[in-house]
Amino acid sequence: MKQTINIFWFRRDLRLDDNHGLFKALSGNRPVLPVFIFDTEILKKLPKDDARVTFIHQTLQNINKTLQTKYSSHLALYFGKPLEIYKQLIENYNIETIFTNHDYEPYALKRDTEIGRFLKDQNIAFHTYKDQVVFEKNEVTKSDGLPYVIYTPFMKAWKEAFKTSTFEHYPSENLLQNFIQITDLANVNLSDMGFEVSNQKVQPYHVDSELIQNYEALRNFPAQDATSKLGPHLRFGTVSIRKMVAKAIAETNEVFWQELIWREFFMQILWHFPHTATQSFKPKYDRIEWRNNKTEFELWCEGKTGYPLVDASMRQLNQTGFMHNRVRMLAGSFLCKHLLIDWRWGEAYFAKKLHDYDMASNIGNWQWVAGCGVDAAPYFRIFNPTTQIEKFDKNLEYIKQWCPNFQEPNYPTPIVDHTFARERCLQVYKAALS
Ligand code: FAD
Repeated sequence: MKQTINIFWFRRDLRLDDNHGLFKALSGNRPVLPVFIFDTEILKKLPKDDARVTFIHQTLQNINKTLQTKYSSHLALYFGKPLEIYKQLIENYNIETIFTNHDYEPYALKRDTEIGRFLKDQNIAFHTYKDQVVFEKNEVTKSDGLPYVIYTPFMKAWKEAFKTSTFEHYPSENLLQNFIQITDLANVNLSDMGFEVSNQKVQPYHVDSELIQNYEALRNFPAQDATSKLGPHLRFGTVSIRKMVAKAIAETNEVFWQELIWREFFMQILWHFPHTATQSFKPKYDRIEWRNNKTEFELWCEGKTGYPLVDASMRQLNQTGFMHNRVRMLAGSFLCKHLLIDWRWGEAYFAKKLHDYDMASNIGNWQWVAGCGVDAAPYFRIFNPTTQIEKFDKNLEYIKQWCPNFQEPNYPTPIVDHTFARERCLQVYKAALS
């Protein structure tokens, strides 16, 4: 006879503690089979040595180890299309409920709708929970119920909602004995999926008191290791957003807290306006006549524009999978405004390279730099790639780290003259927007 169980489906919440959906699953009265599915639809687009896939795989192996050694259980890992995997699982188990946490990206919404429909036909309940944000979907809106498209009022309303709602934690870590007692479930190696271990490593995050206290003073200087590196951990849920917000509040640091709110601002923008995944929020901006010169794009990607701060930023990205926020803004602005290359090209390149790539944040920020998004930088604000050095890398520490040859005679000459590029950009943008 088939065993009656519940399933917890891990996705972008790869942790055992303070995990909302997992807490709900483990609070039920059935043993819980933990499942992760390496989705072929997502993996087929990624390079074989993708550092994020290595990170996910390693994180899952660590979870598995904990389950095996402490709870005589096992995380079941699969490689395939989620719907097909569930069709197989119902052959082996009598599944009562599948629990999981919300994912707001357009592909995930479509996938979950299909799976929900299939499960309903099978009389299996599908329960989903908010976990990767404090407020989601329509929870912070204007008084007329419409979404905020300007950050500052959103941030104020977010804080107000936070003060007036109960801020719960979900101590799933106390219920781990309710996992199914089986130790030999499916596992997959990176090589089974055609992947290999990456040479790049996702960096650990650090959010100690010192970092949070110094955050405002130091966060704009790319040579300083003064930001949290939380990006990939929030993306894959190896840390709980509720714990991070609690920490920011305990340290009474509004600026750090507000960065976490920027993340939620862009998440709700993508959820309310899914077309912004491919189109500018401000439609007029899709009339811009991008030059889209492929050679210039390659030089930008390789960090060979001849502007050392832009080049250093791209080399940091290529070598480590991380780029400091201050220079993300400069590199993005340079691509769209100096080179007049479509923001979607830059967005796609960052999506391939950034360990902290997150669709909502990447699109939101790229539209911000191009001027075409919600609450975006005005189009006539064009960063000067030379004066930015004086402001943010006065002692050339960052440039020297990533472009040690920048003062040598064979260093590339600037790809375009700044004054000329600025004027050209203003004309092209004006023509599109008039
Ligand atoms: P910290 O400065 O320590 O900030 C803490 C956390 O706050 C971050 O991890 C992030 O979750 C959030 N945060 C901070 N700034 C922003 C912001 N402007 N927008 C949204 N969330 C923010 N961030 C991503 O997480 N994924 C992306 O794909 C991404 N693409 C970007 C593309 C461009 C062109 C630009 C200008 C910015 C992008 N950012 C993106 C925002 C920001 O650069 C990174 O979140 C930050 O640099 C990550 O480093 P950290 O974790 O040390 O950040």
